Amino acid sequence: MEQKGALFVISGPSGVGKGTIIQGAMQKLAERTDIKVSLAVSVTTRAPRLGEIDGVHYHFISREKFFELLEQGELLEYTKYAGNYYGTPAKEIVERTREGTFVLLDIETAGAMEVKKNWPDAVLCFILPPSMEELERRLRARGTETEESIARRLEIAENERAKANLYDYQILNDTLLEAVDRLVDVLLSWKNKKGAK
Ligand code: ADP
Ligand code: 5GP
Repeated sequence: MEQKGALFVISGPSGVGKGTIIQGAMQKLAERTDIKVSLAVSVTTRAPRLGEIDGVHYHFISREKFFELLEQGELLEYTKYAGNYYGTPAKEIVERTREGTFVLLDIETAGAMEVKKNWPDAVLCFILPPSMEELERRLRARGTETEESIARRLEIAENERAKANLYDYQILNDTLLEAVDRLVDVLLSWKNKKGAK
């Protein structure tokens, strides 16, 4: 059977562990299967955090460039989050899924709903924190945000949590390894359902 790619959207409040779970799942799939998985690189007007690499974690661009891409129809979806713009470049995703890759998008809830509209086959996963207290602890422990940024992200998190039931899967990130296994299971079950190689 012809190999088919797919689009997986991963959302959840900032600091819940999306990036960590995605890396864990990608590593596990690379070790145990021949599925090609890649994480889409978004564009953002946010400043890079210490250790973030342009073209790897994000394409860090100016607002001017962001709106140029938007006008040119280059973005599958976009949003404004905590004062910065974020968007998913469409071309790369279309190409990769066409060649059979499972593409993961780490995007927030409004963007996820937009993707589902434009790409009905996309599989939506929401990552839940064990509690808001633990979410705040993780955000602080990561050491990347100012107090103001932490406060904004926690405020947004309250609204995001209410959207969890609109997703195909809800994954609790209490024990990291269990959350990784659940995401791996979601990808494998899609593969089995579609009969892709
Ligand atoms: P997000 O991508 O959702 O913003 P990160 O992947 O950056 O979140 O994780 C936020 C912080 O929480 C990181 O310091 C990460 O190491 C930590 N973390 C992730 N998952 C867990 C977990 N299950 N238990 C404890 N800490 C976690
Ligand atoms: P951060 O600044 O922590 O990297 O990301 C903030 C939020 O923006 C996270 O919820 C992340 O999932 C989301 N995000 C990152 N890239 C995109 C994107 O291209 N589109 C949308 N809609 N959200 C994004």
